[in-house]
Amino acid sequence: MFNRSRRNIATWFTLAMGSILIAFAAIVYSMEVKDELEELDRLIYKKTTVMAANVKYKFNNQQQKVDLENVPLLGSRAQLPPDSQFVYVRWYDEQKQLVQFFGDLPKQQIPIANGFHTLETENAHIWLRQVTLPVYQNGLLIGYLQAAIPMTAMEENLAQLRLVLSIAVPTTLGVIALTGWWLGGLAMQPILHSYSQLMRFTADASHELRSPLAALISNAQYGSLSTTHNLEAQRQRFQKIVDIAKSMSNLVDNLLFLARHEGRLSEENLQKFDLKNLVQQLIDDYAKHEIAQHLNFKSELNRERVNIYGNAELLRQAITNLMNNACKYTPAGGEVKLQLFTQHHLAVIAIADNGIGISQSDLAHIFERFYRVSKERSRKTGGFGLGLAIAQQIVVAHGGQINVSSVVGQGSNFQILLPLV
Ligand code: ADP
Repeated sequence: MFNRSRRNIATWFTLAMGSILIAFAAIVYSMEVKDELEELDRLIYKKTTVMAANVKYKFNNQQQKVDLENVPLLGSRAQLPPDSQFVYVRWYDEQKQLVQFFGDLPKQQIPIANGFHTLETENAHIWLRQVTLPVYQNGLLIGYLQAAIPMTAMEENLAQLRLVLSIAVPTTLGVIALTGWWLGGLAMQPILHSYSQLMRFTADASHELRSPLAALISNAQYGSLSTTHNLEAQRQRFQKIVDIAKSMSNLVDNLLFLARHEGRLSEENLQKFDLKNLVQQLIDDYAKHEIAQHLNFKSELNRERVNIYGNAELLRQAITNLMNNACKYTPAGGEVKLQLFTQHHLAVIAIADNGIGISQSDLAHIFERFYRVSKERSRKTGGFGLGLAIAQQIVVAHGGQINVSSVVGQGSNFQILLPLV
């Protein structure tokens, strides 16, 4: 599936870039043809006008006569050296009748039109550029001078350009195709990453649900098959089913939470509020909470208000997750300290404990979904390895971050940093 998408991206990229490249090559070629033709026209025009300047017009015995004797290639008294480039030079009178010529004689009387024309010689099949100039003397049309030179040099230049283009265009197309393939791979990378994350998440979630489901089924089956009249045993079994169902519901809630709160929070979900109020409420709750009863619980709050833009409910969840962990992973008699202070333009909520701590190798993974340092211990405390992932997702959604430092056997220190208003 991913390879097909990558191939599609590469193909469309090559097609789009290839069309642009071919259009560009066509434009370059046609511009070169135009330039070469203009240059050739300028050259032939210059040479022909020099010849036309040598045409003399005389009155002889009351008769007007055109004298072509001084015209190079046509006359014998020409001063200028004859130009060997011309294939033919022809002089037509004002009636467009051929009078004198050098080179090929036209096979038939072709109606002559002024200006430039491209034509092919009949015998040698050489392309020629021909110019026909009307020649005037004292404002009177005295005839037409027609000359042609071969286009061989221009054709050679164009053939060379065609050769260069025929090598350069396919080579560039090849490079474009490879670039398309590489870009396709690059574009697929985040999708592949998200896909494999999703697959892992689904596999982990299914795995987490499988054990409680099996326990649920076995308890229910035992209950339905049992013929015991021991009500207490039955009550315990039902209680177990309720506990497992609650834990599953908790897991599903967490999964839904992670799925719903991906990415930064939008403006309408943010409100200005005093973080000090929220933390104070949590301190009051934890003072009574059974999870913290075995601990020495301390707190320290900033004197002033700590205003931030955020979602109080979500942040309560994030702090609660860190607090629950501190309480869960600190043995009886240990200490948990909750602090709120400001640092530069950040609000800092620090949760420190002197519990079991986390090894450096585990620290790199604890924010990953479903990661638990010790599965046994976590399961006993009801953890799925989602608490820190949720806390981090909430904090990141607020534009903040969570820092952690920990030493095994000495305790952990988690810090939530949030931008102040
Ligand atoms: P869980 O639900 O298993 O507690 P979390 O995502 O909250 O999942 O935490 C991931 C792992 O990080 C836990 O399994 C635990 O091993 C470790 N951990 C988190 N907080 C602490 C802490 N304060 N002290 C020691 N270990 C901790």
